[in-house]
Amino acid sequence: MRFQFFLLMLVFFNLKAQPRQCLYDASFVPVIDLHREALTFRSLVTVPVVVHVISTTETEVSDFQIHAQIHALNRDFRKRGKEWLLMPQPFRELAADAYIEFELASVAPNGLPTLGINRKKINGNNAVLNDDIFYAERGGIDAWDTNRYLNIWVVEMHEALLGYASSPNDAGLPTDGVVININYFGTSRAESTYQLGRTLVHEVGHYLGLSHPWGDIKNECEEDDGLEDTPILRGPHYSCPPTDDQSCNGIPYYWNFMDYTPDCCMAMFTHMQAAQMQATLSYYRPQLSIASFDEPLQTAQFAVVPNPAKSAVAISWEDPIKSIEVYTSDGRMIRTFHPDSSDRYWSLCLSGYPKGILILVFHRNNGLRTVQKLLHL
Ligand SMILES: [Zn+2]
Repeated sequence: MRFQFFLLMLVFFNLKAQPRQCLYDASFVPVIDLHREALTFRSLVTVPVVVHVISTTETEVSDFQIHAQIHALNRDFRKRGKEWLLMPQPFRELAADAYIEFELASVAPNGLPTLGINRKKINGNNAVLNDDIFYAERGGIDAWDTNRYLNIWVVEMHEALLGYASSPNDAGLPTDGVVININYFGTSRAESTYQLGRTLVHEVGHYLGLSHPWGDIKNECEEDDGLEDTPILRGPHYSCPPTDDQSCNGIPYYWNFMDYTPDCCMAMFTHMQAAQMQATLSYYRPQLSIASFDEPLQTAQFAVVPNPAKSAVAISWEDPIKSIEVYTSDGRMIRTFHPDSSDRYWSLCLSGYPKGILILVFHRNNGLRTVQKLLHL
């Protein structure tokens, strides 16, 4: 069993400005072959979240703070923070809405209603960076099915650590998820440098397949995160405005959520970062968005049944349509169907199609189109 963690650390060699540092095992997930059309067809994905809080009496995290943290996560993944408006061009137009939202799970793995919060009280501080936190029999809390929930453990740990995340390569393991230092979870709890909830935003970025903008190698301007619209950096920024500009293109750029800047300067994911995260959800974590498919995807005019589907789906529509196109989630068209005007039904065999999310585009006679997602198991 292999574990790869992304460690986000505060280092104490500079007590005035405690910088973030994120150590991680390189080359964890390849950049998925992105296609610009994927951006056009992207639709909202909702990820169910369970928060496991392991705390002492002194370090309790309130339900309010948990909700505030989820709100902060959605603020940044949906481009609702206002900081990006302060960025100069050409960076402002790079800021993307990732179309990914997070909500505390409402249904537990056993099918019962839940608030999506688990709590465990411990005595004293057993803040150790080890795998015990992932296992109830060792004093932690067992993950909920990591294929179906984003598990977030909120624990005490050494003050130097802010948190860490697993790689998409670890999808499905009992340790798959994000771990956040209890002192940096939520908003207004941490010291002012990190009180906007963006430690979790950064770590969920890793969890969804993002690297740092400088890639694996620092102090050069060749290698980066593999995404074409993320400005290349030589290395991380620790303050804002940065005292030591790391930009390679001559124009300071220090607003990316995957940089190390203080929370108040983090402002954006790029369009390609957003697409990479969407593609990671489809390729590595397809069942995470299954909550979106709890009900068969149907509109008044279009029905896709069953959904999710293993072998075939029945697609039906009410009014005549021009065509139906089937895309992978990264925008590669894999099938086109041109029905006759009298057709109202198409049986689509999924044999040989990639697993994960497929996107169905219905081109209607009025020039409009309707997009529906299909989860291929
Ligand atoms: Zn990091």
